[in-house]
Amino acid sequence: MSGAERSPAVPAGGTAVVGGGMLGIGAALLLAEAGRRVTLFERADCLGGLAAAWSLGPVRWDRHYHVILESDEETLGLLEKLDLAGRVVWSRPGTGCFAGGRLFPVTSAADMLRLPALGLVDKFRLGLTVLRAAHGGRRGLDEMTAERWLVRWSGKRAYTAFWKPLLVAKLGASHGRASAAFIQATIRRLYTARRGASKRERFGYVRGGYAVVLDRAERALRDRGCTLRLGAGVSSIVREGSRVAVAVGDRVDLFDDVILTLPPPIAARLCPQLDHDTRKKLESIEYIGVICASLLLDRALSGYYVTNVLDEGLPFTAVIEMTACVDPGDLRGRHLIYLPRYAPWDDPFWDLDDSAIRESLLAGLERVHPGLGGARIEAFRVSRQRFVLPLPAPGLARRVPGIEPAIPGIWMLSSAQIRDGTPNVNDTLRLARQGVAALLGAVS
Ligand SMILES: Cc1cc2nc3c(=O)[nH]c(=O)nc-3n(C[C@H](O)[C@H](O)[C@H](O)COP(=O)(O)OP(=O)(O)OC[C@H]3O[C@@H](n4cnc5c(N)ncnc54)[C@H](O)[C@@H]3O)c2cc1C
Repeated sequence: MSGAERSPAVPAGGTAVVGGGMLGIGAALLLAEAGRRVTLFERADCLGGLAAAWSLGPVRWDRHYHVILESDEETLGLLEKLDLAGRVVWSRPGTGCFAGGRLFPVTSAADMLRLPALGLVDKFRLGLTVLRAAHGGRRGLDEMTAERWLVRWSGKRAYTAFWKPLLVAKLGASHGRASAAFIQATIRRLYTARRGASKRERFGYVRGGYAVVLDRAERALRDRGCTLRLGAGVSSIVREGSRVAVAVGDRVDLFDDVILTLPPPIAARLCPQLDHDTRKKLESIEYIGVICASLLLDRALSGYYVTNVLDEGLPFTAVIEMTACVDPGDLRGRHLIYLPRYAPWDDPFWDLDDSAIRESLLAGLERVHPGLGGARIEAFRVSRQRFVLPLPAPGLARRVPGIEPAIPGIWMLSSAQIRDGTPNVNDTLRLARQGVAALLGAVS
């Protein structure tokens, strides 16, 4: 980094947090509360990362669908801290499934019993599989595929009719590569969320969406003395003597320590001093992305928050009707649909422009909801995110490094360390807490 400009703007020392998604925000808040001087670097011009908000026609809402579960203690704790707990709205929307050209409910146990593709024995085994996932240990599950484990416990028919659509909704074309540990954790998260007599999970959102959460978080960070460097993509992080040098273009600042909150392959690119084996490990962690369209409609499509699709000809992996949870009054009376396509990096959709994506997705939606139930599309927008979740393939746990620093003073936290299921805000905030506790423990 010789020759780069040393900035006098930020006094040397303190902790740098790289990445202003929920992981970086959570870590920065905790560090500041512990009395550390914190500088947060975010490449985009706003905080939030995958949880950020954007404009869709006349409304401002989450770029990707987000709900809170009642069991999300970390998320609810953050909302409490931001004085937003009173703005959480809860509901119990239904779940649908589109298969064999038909749409039917899979919301309750009674719906499951009516599933046409499954016999009584299949349904009994399905129930046993859920109990096994919820209460069984995880020994050996990291090394086995989800398909093998599910077929063993539920049988081939129940796998094809029930579990496969769930895996497709989460992982798209990569569903066959998921580990049994992944499906166990996914079932567990939903099972624990099913509280109360109805055994149906309640989903929550904050009135105003993540835009409100992120505005409050930004204010809380500034109030606690954090320096926010927005629009500042970090280009390298290097240990220099007892300090760590963080470069953004030509500007370099020195810190006591740094927490990176980026996917491991990106983190590896920023840290030239990593040893060969660690670098190879970080680079080998494969990510799945999402191409996610938002549609604003003038009326509802169905009462289902999630409709899983068991039809490989459809171009999306689920239909998410956000306004089955969110009061349309929060969206100026409109109805919000997301059409996500979880996609590996060689998926042909990455090469399509917005109008080709729109054409393909709408043709698919027509099949699930002919004529769109008469709804008019008022706005359409596509988000493309390459780094959403590490492919939860067997053996992933062995390749993901722990949170202890690979280079003194350089800590790496990431969604890949969330071993249990699909990354979500709650587990992300818990990881931030664990990382900050380890850092503070190491420096005290
Ligand atoms: C379609 C979808 C639906 C979801 N639904 C839910 C849900 O219902 N409930 C739930 O709890 N969770 C949900 N999630 C997951 C949740 O959004 C994520 O788990 C969480 O936001 C991840 O936060 P993060 O900080 O780890 O990563 P990110 O949000 O990816 O943040 C990383 C940040 O680092 C920044 N960055 C990258 N490179 C640099 C650099 N060189 N310098 C500086 N900054 C950099 C990026 O711009 C980004 O802001 C969903 C995610 C998606 C995609």
